[in-house]
Amino acid sequence: MLSTMQDVPLTVTRILQHGSKIHGTSQVTTWTGEAEPHRRSFAEIGERAAQLAHALRDDLGVDGDERVATLMWNNAEHVEAYFAIPSMGAVLHTLNLRLPPEQLAWIVNHAADRVVLVNGSLLPLLAPLLPHLAPIEHVVISGPGDRSLLDGASVQVHEYEELLAGKPTTYAWPELDERQAAAMCYTSGTTGDPKGVVYSHRSIYLHSMQVNMAQSMGLTDQDTSLIVVPQFHVNAWGLPHGVFMTGVNMLMPDRFLQPAPLAEMIEREQPTHAAAVPTIWQGLLGELQQNPRDISCMKQVTIGGSACPPALMEAFDKLGATVCHAWGMTETSPLGTVARPPAHVVGTEEEMAYRLTQGRFPAGVEARLVGPGGEHLPWDGQSAGELEVRGPWIAGSYYGGAAGENFKPEDKFSEDGWLKTGDVGVISADGFLTLTDRAKDVIKSGGEWISSVELENALMSHPEVAEAAVVAVPDKKWGERPLATVVLKEGASTDFVQLKEFLATKIAKWQLPERWSIVEAVPKTSVGKFDKKVIRRQYADGDLDITELA
Ligand code: ADP
Repeated sequence: MLSTMQDVPLTVTRILQHGSKIHGTSQVTTWTGEAEPHRRSFAEIGERAAQLAHALRDDLGVDGDERVATLMWNNAEHVEAYFAIPSMGAVLHTLNLRLPPEQLAWIVNHAADRVVLVNGSLLPLLAPLLPHLAPIEHVVISGPGDRSLLDGASVQVHEYEELLAGKPTTYAWPELDERQAAAMCYTSGTTGDPKGVVYSHRSIYLHSMQVNMAQSMGLTDQDTSLIVVPQFHVNAWGLPHGVFMTGVNMLMPDRFLQPAPLAEMIEREQPTHAAAVPTIWQGLLGELQQNPRDISCMKQVTIGGSACPPALMEAFDKLGATVCHAWGMTETSPLGTVARPPAHVVGTEEEMAYRLTQGRFPAGVEARLVGPGGEHLPWDGQSAGELEVRGPWIAGSYYGGAAGENFKPEDKFSEDGWLKTGDVGVISADGFLTLTDRAKDVIKSGGEWISSVELENALMSHPEVAEAAVVAVPDKKWGERPLATVVLKEGASTDFVQLKEFLATKIAKWQLPERWSIVEAVPKTSVGKFDKKVIRRQYADGDLDITELA
């Protein structure tokens, strides 16, 4: 029999209505680089979201489930777009402004975006691209920037504030089907062509509830969250939606993502929480060493997107901020695991080891490990296999079915509908995931697997190493062997022999790299992850200066 409960659709509209009414005085603060940041209350965000929806519908003719793109930093206007576009029934399409221009153009054409909201500071990026963005008819500009860059463009250009001015501050939001598309984000293409992930209202709503749980980020209206992770990347890890539910104040860095302004922002605005990928925090720690500031306000730092190096976690612990490590993907909304140590290890020597895992699966994310022959592996902390997941905020397909010539759906989704993450790891009996590699980055040496991540972490714990990336390179005898590329800190005096000896104290001897190279910087992807494709290519092209140790 069916239940007797009400069937109220779980929609982004309801998050908007709740946050702007119940938490109307909470604030979105946007950094401007000037003496005072810009502040807007949740109540104002609600009113302006209504005005934006009127403008999009009445002035620009946005109708049905049309895609509306954003090419924006993290700021209050982007939050307004986050709520207005899905709530009116259209689909928010966040564009990754760090993608190579050809990929960006490909994505806009693939999604058929007719309207793009852009920050004025990003017009130098958009203007030369416009001739290649056939579907775009309207460009709506907010914030400072040189408008003349669009002179002569064959699109209609609008000012965001002028569009909103005088529009009603309420909107008769339609009652939507919770399974309807609300937002879309293309994967950043680290492992191939970009693929469009389309989030539903329901998936966003449920994901937000999980983000807000104490076992996840667990923030309240007493908190301020510094959201560094970009709104163009997996909905800023679901934070804007999540914190709108609970009235957490948002501190938005806009385009000021360099270590010095971030440090200043933290000292002046006193956020209690912050979220970003490890490279951002490495930069901030470097800055703090040179120009110390008091960042003790930050009680919790969420780190994900790539593995958190142990040295980074320890450095933050010393500053009084507890790092919470999490794993996820564009396809998983992204919250997939969170590394909160279980009660019985808190305060013991084991605690750190748990915190450094990728974390435990929350309710809503089911997981399994699949071995090379397709067999399901036990959760024993030993058996390594590819991670597959399923759940109400996990993608089951891509927009338009597939993208790119080389894409085969069976590579990403199992026959019974699970997402193949492409991540390789082990799961402990108590449900903690430890990733040892990406399926494509594993080093297969003489029939054994070597984890590139383990070698990188060990190298990066050396006091004179700033960054290290390890990739597989072909080897006549073993098939593949690790190559270590290392960025040394300024004034470092160590050499490869010493580094190898240092590694030998932590890693089995047969896994130690013979090939070494000092590089100025590890190449990064558009979202700041190590780009191992590039390192492998540099090696193959002979562009790296290699030293071989016996
Ligand atoms: P892309 O796949 O385009 O790089 P995503 O942001 O979706 O973009 O990347 C997801 C991948 O990032 C995961 O599959 C995993 O390999 C990696 N990743 C994310 N979080 C972590 C983490 N905490 N530790 C290790 N790897 C991570």
